[in-house]
Amino acid sequence: MSNKAPSPLDLVRRHNLNLKKSLGQNLLIDPTHLARIAGAADLEATDTVLEIGPGLGALTHHLAERAGRVIAVELDQRLMPVLRAEFADRPHVSFVHGDILELNPAEIIHMLRPDQPGTTAAAEPYKVVGNLPYYITSAVLRHVLESLPPPTLAVLLVQQEVAQRMVAQCGAMSLLAVSVQFYARPRALHKIPAGAFLPRPKVDSRVVRLDVRAQPAVSDVEPARFFQVVRAGFSQRRKQLRNSLSAGLSCTKEQADRWLTSSGIEPRRRAETLSLQEWGMLTRTVYGTA
Ligand code: SAM
Repeated sequence: MSNKAPSPLDLVRRHNLNLKKSLGQNLLIDPTHLARIAGAADLEATDTVLEIGPGLGALTHHLAERAGRVIAVELDQRLMPVLRAEFADRPHVSFVHGDILELNPAEIIHMLRPDQPGTTAAAEPYKVVGNLPYYITSAVLRHVLESLPPPTLAVLLVQQEVAQRMVAQCGAMSLLAVSVQFYARPRALHKIPAGAFLPRPKVDSRVVRLDVRAQPAVSDVEPARFFQVVRAGFSQRRKQLRNSLSAGLSCTKEQADRWLTSSGIEPRRRAETLSLQEWGMLTRTVYGTA
């Protein structure tokens, strides 16, 4: 990394900033961990990276050293002049002020492409990297994975417990695990202790890498239908599927039994035991497309 990069701590002091808890501003201040996150994205000079929540640019510096273009979206307007000044001599790094949940990642990348201004979004490959505010992790995951086109890869820093839920296997599945694994192959990488952040959060974090699938893991289902059935199944997690499905899909328990049995699923099983393929089979049965 360029040794010009100031520490986030220096920037906080120099600009007299109060970090906002409401925006999840726990800055990662340990350069070894920052380098490992950037390294996990396997960046090359041809890569375009969308960074979510650059904060004071600590991770951005590491991304800028490796990638051909970095576009970072930050919600906190106060940080924009600091970021723009810090990266004034890095023309391949740009900052967008806004809420990532209200922006289409592929469009931002395309809009900022200097050689194609004003044209429609092209399918330019990109990667997503971010140390996410914890309170929007699930929403960001969904937004990014469902965006068109999605990134080829995402490397995200999330709460340890959330990372474990993303990579769970049958027996411990959740709506989050099904949603992530439908679109990507998640891997939990290294742990980052709470002490590596300023201010120190209450819990440890973990880096996760999501290799986005070219096609969803389950074929022949419309994602909206698939997730309607999955959400219904997880609507009453501790209950047997026949009960949660009848509540979530507003049908009788007998109807739920018939759908489950025709899909080869024992109606007394619980949602966390189903594989993605079993959810797919159930969706096709419910919608009469099996
Ligand atoms: N990347 C920096 C680091 O690693 O030290 C900062 C990470 S901090 C956990 C999360 C950052 O996301 C904050 O700067 C916060 O202002 C920003 N943020 C919060 N909500 C956001 C949103 N909806 N869209 C974009 N940025 C957001």
